[in-house]
Amino acid sequence: MNQDFVDSPAVQSLLLRASGLDSDGGDPRLKTIIRDLVEAAMRTIVRHNVTESEFWNAIKYFQNGAAEFGLIVPGVGLEHFLDLFMDAKDAEAGMSGGTPRTIEGPLYVEGAPLVEGDVNLTEDPDDTGTLYMNGQVRGPDGELVQGAILHVWHANSQGWYSHFDPTREQTPFNNRRRIKLGADGRYSFHSKTPNGYSVPPGGATEMLMKAIGRHGNRPAHVHFFVEAPGYRALTTQINFGDDPFAADDFAFGTREGLLPVPNRQGDSAYIAFDFVLQRATGAQDEGFSNRSRSAA
Ligand code: FE
Repeated sequence: MNQDFVDSPAVQSLLLRASGLDSDGGDPRLKTIIRDLVEAAMRTIVRHNVTESEFWNAIKYFQNGAAEFGLIVPGVGLEHFLDLFMDAKDAEAGMSGGTPRTIEGPLYVEGAPLVEGDVNLTEDPDDTGTLYMNGQVRGPDGELVQGAILHVWHANSQGWYSHFDPTREQTPFNNRRRIKLGADGRYSFHSKTPNGYSVPPGGATEMLMKAIGRHGNRPAHVHFFVEAPGYRALTTQINFGDDPFAADDFAFGTREGLLPVPNRQGDSAYIAFDFVLQRATGAQDEGFSNRSRSAA
């Protein structure tokens, strides 16, 4: 069957009616997006001659995999695509520079303790070494940034995050803090060194990765939000440059400029990393996306 089939009057009329575009009610922007999404699905079905059985298997996959969408989306590259898209729009608007953004992932939890000074992130015992990280938050001209808050979260040595740990062994907010920075913008913390992790065994993400001949591993990494009045909120993470998956992250979260190689001494790992923020063009730049996040 030829692609023209989707252009036929019967299918185009179906698309208009199915998306509500032939009526007055509803959200006009949503209508056009729904129309184009459904049309893209139709074109994929025709291009690959997707069978009825394959189609319903795919729907079943989405139903069963709903809880893992936060992992499936980075796994298929869509979350990184959003970063590339925002970077491209920034470049067009002349807003390039500073520390690169990269994916947030699904495991941030709101309400972590707000602390100051040289911070310990880890509450719980963990059979691993110690990570020491420090650096400074600065503005685009190297200026000191006032009133910055650095949100930091990472996994434990087993690759589990507090609040999402199926072993339920972690104290709430283990390896999670919000660090209030002083007038010099410097931060310093230590914690039990995280390891990389893989997607949940037997889950929907792993099923998809296996089916397309890929793995579901991430290198060891540390997530950050950085916010400060007058500056653009930054969502980023550093990945350990010496991790076996540093150049092969299933979630595409590793980016040039975000792959420091830890200085390892015994079971201690030291990373120095500075954040450079962009200036906000308005109040809307200072906040994070309104993605739905866990709170505790
Ligand atoms: Fe992560």
